[in-house]
Amino acid sequence: MLSPQEYLEQILRDLTANAPIQSPLRTARGTVLAEDVRTPIPLPIFDNSAMDGYALRLADLTGTTLPVAGESAAGSATATLPPGCAMKVMTGAPIPIGADCVVPYEATDRGTVSVTISERPTLGAHIRRQGEDLQIGDVVAPRGAVLTPRHMAAIAAVGIGEVVAHATPMRVSVVSTGAELRQPGEDLTDGAIYESNSLMLAELVRGLRAEAETSSVTDDPELLLEHLTRQATHSDLIITTGGVSAGDYDVVKAALAPLGIWFGPVAMQPGKPQGFGRLNGTPILCLPGNPVSAYVSFVLFVRPALRKLMGHPDPVGHPIRARLAHEMTSPAGKTQFLRGAYADGIVSQVRGPGSHLIGALAAANALVEIPAEATILAAGTDVNVWLMETD
Ligand code: AMP
Ligand code: MG
Repeated sequence: MLSPQEYLEQILRDLTANAPIQSPLRTARGTVLAEDVRTPIPLPIFDNSAMDGYALRLADLTGTTLPVAGESAAGSATATLPPGCAMKVMTGAPIPIGADCVVPYEATDRGTVSVTISERPTLGAHIRRQGEDLQIGDVVAPRGAVLTPRHMAAIAAVGIGEVVAHATPMRVSVVSTGAELRQPGEDLTDGAIYESNSLMLAELVRGLRAEAETSSVTDDPELLLEHLTRQATHSDLIITTGGVSAGDYDVVKAALAPLGIWFGPVAMQPGKPQGFGRLNGTPILCLPGNPVSAYVSFVLFVRPALRKLMGHPDPVGHPIRARLAHEMTSPAGKTQFLRGAYADGIVSQVRGPGSHLIGALAAANALVEIPAEATILAAGTDVNVWLMETD
């Protein structure tokens, strides 16, 4: 049986990052830079004042009072300071040529004709220097960076409006399967249940700033294959849920195994039955139907796959380490992902290990990874924990 790591490696080996394209900065949130962004200008662009106050030449301040010669406001062109004078200067305004320090209003009488200074400034005081943040040619955001609002602001601040990033949005088709599934709000007939996986998976996809389209198909292999074939024509990735285990109506397997899609067990719980391959060239990941299995499969396999397609240099997620609040048990030979409550380095279990316990999944904030070889872990053992709070 493949371990989860081996299965993930198999998936990632098959996928390559989307080609880079030039796109507007405004819509590039969450995309991965394919090139370093370097600044064509220094930041700050010119010496400017860090305070509202008076710019002056320190050597001119032989007493405590200087005549005031005009002002420099934010947006003003750079003025020239007449010898022996002070000039009003506002925050962000260019330092007048000849000035070498700024005295904040608080250290003056705020005079308009002449100003009296109560605290002698030091040379260079309250001047933000040209280029002290970034010099021409410095890297503003490196290749491989996932664009955050901070990166975007820095790129905008150097006047760049377009970036070269791996193509997005990814179009992901999320297809749920099962004759028993009804949408929330619909009437339930006997034996039917409400469908929750497609909403969950679509929102997890959107959390990566990819596009998600959901649909639901009954347990009919021919209908399903027809539907998936259509989805493949306009999707970058297809995710299915349900119909991959060994039941009589395992529709996904029935429809796709004959086309060479791999189906098999992965040594984990929940999430043992998995499938992966390509349908007419479009990668397809087939997840189990139980809601917790589908969630864990997303975290372990789908998210890294999507991130690889989106060009992330490090697509695989990283658990943190945490200490067990109490003993936890797990079957031998399978990596177990228990639902947990994590706080301050300690994790405790939230209800049972069942893969149908969607209420417990909602109540938890972490997955607790119990290694395959362990059957009992004592309280105080350090384990991997996958935080779910930011999903
Ligand atoms: P399956 O793998 O299709 O046999 O599904 C396993 C279990 O998960 C069954 O109890 C299904 O009813 C349930 N299930 C499958 N798909 C969904 C879904 N989209 N939403 C909620 N439960 C589901
Ligand atoms: Mg089913």
